[in-house]
Amino acid sequence: MITRLNDRNYPRWAAQFRATGGCRQPIHLRGRILHVDRATGWLLHSYTTAGEPDGVLRLPCKTRRASRCPACAEVYRADTYHLIRAGLVGGKGVPASVTSHPCLFVTLTAPSFGPVHTPREKNGRPLPCYARRDAETCPHGRVMSCTARHGADESCLGEPLCPDCYDYIGSVLFNALAPQLWKYFTDALRRRVAKAAGLTLRELRAQCTISFAKVAEYQRRGVVHFHAVIRLDGPDGPSSSPPAWATADLLADAVRHAAHAVTATTPATADEPARILRWGRQLDVREITMDGELSDQAVAGYIAKYATKAAECVGTLDRRINPLDDLHAFNLRDHPRRLIAECMRLGNLDEYADLRLTQWAHMLGFRGHFSTRSRHYSTTMGAIRDERRDHTRTDEITASRLPLFDEDTVLVIAHWEYAGKGLSAGDALLARALTGIPLGSSPDTGGAV
Ligand SMILES: [Zn+2]
Ligand SMILES: [Zn+2]
Ligand SMILES: [Zn+2]
Repeated sequence: MITRLNDRNYPRWAAQFRATGGCRQPIHLRGRILHVDRATGWLLHSYTTAGEPDGVLRLPCKTRRASRCPACAEVYRADTYHLIRAGLVGGKGVPASVTSHPCLFVTLTAPSFGPVHTPREKNGRPLPCYARRDAETCPHGRVMSCTARHGADESCLGEPLCPDCYDYIGSVLFNALAPQLWKYFTDALRRRVAKAAGLTLRELRAQCTISFAKVAEYQRRGVVHFHAVIRLDGPDGPSSSPPAWATADLLADAVRHAAHAVTATTPATADEPARILRWGRQLDVREITMDGELSDQAVAGYIAKYATKAAECVGTLDRRINPLDDLHAFNLRDHPRRLIAECMRLGNLDEYADLRLTQWAHMLGFRGHFSTRSRHYSTTMGAIRDERRDHTRTDEITASRLPLFDEDTVLVIAHWEYAGKGLSAGDALLARALTGIPLGSSPDTGGAV
């Protein structure tokens, strides 16, 4: 840290760090870029990392995970927010008339795998967690009742009343098959909407598109939920009007029907029979309206928030787990450790090979995307990123850091190589000082180079 501070290149290092937006694990690149006039062969502009601190350019890691890099995850969260919101109220190339299309906010839950400690309340007053008058005693001698009124951040929340009775196998298999169950759900929804309108699937496509945007959220017990915006459009997506029969009520009925109808079956093994998995009984379907209780901002904010979270709220690890790792050596609570151990155990079985449970043990079996959109939902993350990049480029040109050139007449020759990642321990301390994070808060996860 002292060496860095005393380096005459320190201001440039600090400027680089600010240019990454405060990224905690920046990518280091070494190389150069030349802009040459095609007609005359004159060198118009050149840049090389040779003169930069440590001879490298630092670029943001662009992770979406807040636990790895809060700065880059915030950019991702903001981009997701604008993308989801554009699909609700228009903007970013989506016409404002989209507000008149029937649109629902749907939460699909996982079923129960055994009672877990839960904070409950009614009208703001805390209620007992799992109170049973004639509570049974389980085969492990535990009484299946908990009369505690849990606070919102007690560490036992999401943990089973009896870990030995809890269905760990069901929990990780549900996570593993949740993306498939979602796919079956969207297929069933299209069929149901077609049926309700008295159309074949082909006829439906000619009249109406069903657009989706969804995020996965981990519950504390370690299973995923899906939150989704589901919208009815005309045949060309948000720019075309849905037919008159396509109402929010019809869509809501079809969602309820499809959610209850679909199942995914797990492969049978020597010890485990095949299981039929379905969504949990809790199904939340709400209409998104411009003036109702569920506003577009609330929905976009909600989805964007979960898009930057992974399973860390369950207390699992934020990286892949090696089969040779000793799980007891990690500082994990019993519940996430058992979920991970179950993934590692089932991952060894040939029948479950396709589920790749070992590789996704740190995600408790879920290997799907956290945040997905169907093609017609809204603009794309790529388009939003391009817009931001063009904006930054215009700034750079205005500030004379980049030449203004016509792409047709200028030849750009670039050569880059990867030169590492992260901040050294001293750099990480300086980075914290620059971003105003107190030195005593949680340690940096970015490795030293
Ligand atoms: Zn970053
Ligand atoms: Zn409890
Ligand atoms: Zn038990």
